[in-house]
Amino acid sequence: MSKSIEELKSLTTQIRRDILRMVHAVNSGHPGGSLGCTEYFTALYGKVMNYNLPFTMEGKNEDHFYLSNGHISPVFYSTLARFEFFPVAELSTFRKLDSRLQGHPTTHEGLPGIRIASGSLGQGLSVALGVAQGKKLDGDDSLVYTLHGDGELQEGQVWEALMYAAAKKVDNIISTIDYNGRQIDGDTDDVLSLGNLHAKLEAFGWIVLEEKNGNDLEAVIAILERAKTETGNGKPVVIILHTEMGNGVDYMMGSHAWHGKAPNDEQLDTAFKQLYLEAPADY
Ligand SMILES: [Mg+2]
Repeated sequence: MSKSIEELKSLTTQIRRDILRMVHAVNSGHPGGSLGCTEYFTALYGKVMNYNLPFTMEGKNEDHFYLSNGHISPVFYSTLARFEFFPVAELSTFRKLDSRLQGHPTTHEGLPGIRIASGSLGQGLSVALGVAQGKKLDGDDSLVYTLHGDGELQEGQVWEALMYAAAKKVDNIISTIDYNGRQIDGDTDDVLSLGNLHAKLEAFGWIVLEEKNGNDLEAVIAILERAKTETGNGKPVVIILHTEMGNGVDYMMGSHAWHGKAPNDEQLDTAFKQLYLEAPADY
């Protein structure tokens, strides 16, 4: 089951291809943030997190993951499929009527791996903190992981949750901020600047780690492993993960333009040439 680093790197290319094919097929979805978080998801499910299959919602004595910025569902769905939570072929139903793979993740469709509905921004940390505290009450010493967009931090509820986590010493959570500096309407600095995010998170009582190479798989694994060593010390842990929106596809990088826009046939072909795989893709 455990994959080598080389296999996982190859998998990031496959996941990027999946993301593009999914959003292209229905001409909608969010490829930019999905491509930027591919290494994070691959690291989490390929190396870092302890989980069992088949998936159970309770997940006692296993690590949990909560995606707060639910619009990057393509990378989440592809990762879950590639790690055998559900069949890869089901990726072809993305955003279609009656699919379990809705544009934003939901729980009532029963898709294995999805623990909360997300898409309405700002709520994931609050939910995850409840789970983290529940695990403590239950004598379950496993960890809770969360992912948030940087633009998402403009939602006030996030800061209530950040304050709560430190006050209640929730030290079994590792949150990650996808720090790509962009959101759907432009650069975060132009829309509503986060200012000195590192200092703000520290001031809110969190242990703050930062990784500048969020699209380097080994660096992402290393920072997540380091974060694990910081848990259990009476403080919540957060990683500011610098990523590139649209990473892996040259015309999607350096802009917010592909936050929520699908490639056309020609653009898909161009992207696939940049994401070449030796073996024919099965999806
Ligand atoms: Mg962003």
